[in-house]
Amino acid sequence: MKWRNRRRSSNIDDRRGQRMKSGAKFSIGGIIMALIAIFVFKQDPMQVVSGMVGGQSSQSTSTEQTNYQPSAEEQDVYDFVSVVLADTEDTWTQIYRQSNAKYPHPTLVIYRDRTPTACGTGQAASGPFYCPADQKIYLDLSFLGELKRMGASGDFAVAYVLAHEVGHHIQTVTGISSKVRKAQSQTNNAGQNALQVKMELQADCLAGVWANQTQQRTQFLESGDLEEALSAAEAVGDDTLMKRAGVPPRRENFTHGSSKERMNWFKRGANTGLIGSCDTFNGVI
Ligand SMILES: [Zn+2]
Repeated sequence: MKWRNRRRSSNIDDRRGQRMKSGAKFSIGGIIMALIAIFVFKQDPMQVVSGMVGGQSSQSTSTEQTNYQPSAEEQDVYDFVSVVLADTEDTWTQIYRQSNAKYPHPTLVIYRDRTPTACGTGQAASGPFYCPADQKIYLDLSFLGELKRMGASGDFAVAYVLAHEVGHHIQTVTGISSKVRKAQSQTNNAGQNALQVKMELQADCLAGVWANQTQQRTQFLESGDLEEALSAAEAVGDDTLMKRAGVPPRRENFTHGSSKERMNWFKRGANTGLIGSCDTFNGVI
């Protein structure tokens, strides 16, 4: 992705120098259980996190400032992410303008290890997530190394992950997320997961729409970029994650969609550039 010397977003809350002072201590066993819940069963990380913290989250909100010095390599990743966020702002602003609407910018919080959020204590172990209650995306940059270890390398793999989280923001501000939550409250566990899959696949498709429209606007893609996004979508598919964890992949436990589905929905958005092509719900909500 061509990104050097391009606009960087100012909607970033850099909390890398902040340390949470007190609060619930998690045992190693608890963290492993949470990781299994998140990566294997793809539970909503925030549900897992609030489950772990229980009623003690209010104790966990005080932070202290440390003198944090990122490496040059990490700062480069930070700068890259801030250009991707700016590209999501510019492209979604343009898309919203077509319907005479104003795009409400989300904030990207970059943190290390743990940070307070309106959805409970955010933890690096959760991977990147979007909290609808404060409309912020939370990212611990160490996840990007994890993504590489999962077989998704290249800068556009990172861009896809961020654009997917921005997709959840779009779903929140357009009211899709609350419709899904309502439908989920009226069905059983398998039905809830099926709805969650549709939601995640739509976020993948919206990431594809963003890639397409940003390309039209800025010609920012380099050869291999879309393949990098697809390899990331493949790496985070439920069947692939379950196989890696030694768990037999069962459809009813999927919450994000199979690797193939995730790749296909990203591709669909990237090929058409149209939000209308992202109706993963097809009348269900
Ligand atoms: Zn998601």
